[in-house]
Amino acid sequence: MDLLNTLVDKGLRRELPTREEALAVLATSDDDLLDVVAAAGKVRRHWFGRRVKLNYLVNLKSGLCPEDCSYCSQRLGSQAGILKYTWLKPDQASDAAAAGVAGGAKRVCLVASGRGPTDRDVDRVSETIKAIKENNEGVEVCACLGLLSDGQAERLREAGADAYNHNLNTSEATYGEITTTHTYADRVDTVEKAHAAGLSACSGLIAGMGESDEDLVDVVYSLRELDPDSVPVNFLIPFEGTPLGKEWNLTPQRCLRILAMTRFVCPDVEVRIAGGREVHLRTMQPLALHLANSIFLGDYLTSEGQAGKADLEMIADAGFEVEGTDQVTLPEHRAAGGCHDGGGGCGSEGGGVCGSAAAPEAAEPSTAAEPRTAADPRTDLVAVRRRGAGTDLAPNA
Ligand code: SF4
Repeated sequence: MDLLNTLVDKGLRRELPTREEALAVLATSDDDLLDVVAAAGKVRRHWFGRRVKLNYLVNLKSGLCPEDCSYCSQRLGSQAGILKYTWLKPDQASDAAAAGVAGGAKRVCLVASGRGPTDRDVDRVSETIKAIKENNEGVEVCACLGLLSDGQAERLREAGADAYNHNLNTSEATYGEITTTHTYADRVDTVEKAHAAGLSACSGLIAGMGESDEDLVDVVYSLRELDPDSVPVNFLIPFEGTPLGKEWNLTPQRCLRILAMTRFVCPDVEVRIAGGREVHLRTMQPLALHLANSIFLGDYLTSEGQAGKADLEMIADAGFEVEGTDQVTLPEHRAAGGCHDGGGGCGSEGGGVCGSAAAPEAAEPSTAAEPRTAADPRTDLVAVRRRGAGTDLAPNA
């Protein structure tokens, strides 16, 4: 297909595809899906080989958020039966992080619900970052605390944070439909603050919220313009008890096309499969490793992922390898802080730092007797997190 040959050539040159080309990837047929994966896979292997970076989420503070992000189980008025707790102590967070690192994670993502941190919260998280770094040599720490005020990114950097995540989530045009308590511009401002402080910026999207193909292309192009080092791609987990609880509109094939389009637009950036991987890609997860070079190990913020051991087995069976702490994630031109040329770049982590993943409280049993289609809602695959941070049970790692 001429389209795919063109996109591979552009991806290898870090040249921005046209919007029409990006839209055409989303419009490909199921018959062409493996060709799309193979083409985007060439770009992925050129920049990242067969390495898969593992990231581990630690939810420092869960639920009780005053913001109203429609996709989020922690939002104001959420009826989802998630764990709710206030700030973990540094040693509690460090213990949870150590479990992820022992499981193979290279980066720990410290996430807290809320509009943004107070200066006291930044102190708290700074202590936590120091505790994690002392106990886990070589680990990368990404903070995800919401909207930042002046000076806070610099303080996190001084405390040892390597990265800061804040997702754009959706296009500027539709942002007001998913959240009213803050704006798209607020989110852009925080990503820019992280950049300016010398933190590696991580910013991504959530697909499956009822957006159009044009919206998806818009947000991915906006991410490239913002030039994060990592771009988490979340697939909405429609939590019962949230406004988007009935938005089951993704198929595994659609998820693969979205990941491929993201890879073509952000070829040399860490593209991470974030929340919703198990729920929406299901048995097609291994194919997605040909597109993304990064995943979350184990559980998400408020919902459970597949067993960490199953993640590792999937990576090995698919012919990929877990990236070690002695390996550099980004291509040389980006790792050196250089790639801010031409059409800008892209970056990482998702579901809304705060906001990745969530699931209906009561999962319906599987109706194995009836054949399913790829488009059927899979509420049976959504399970609220009941282990790890904020509980007495061991984390999944
Ligand atoms: S995404 Fe973050 S800011 Fe929005 S409701 Fe969830 S926890 Fe709050």
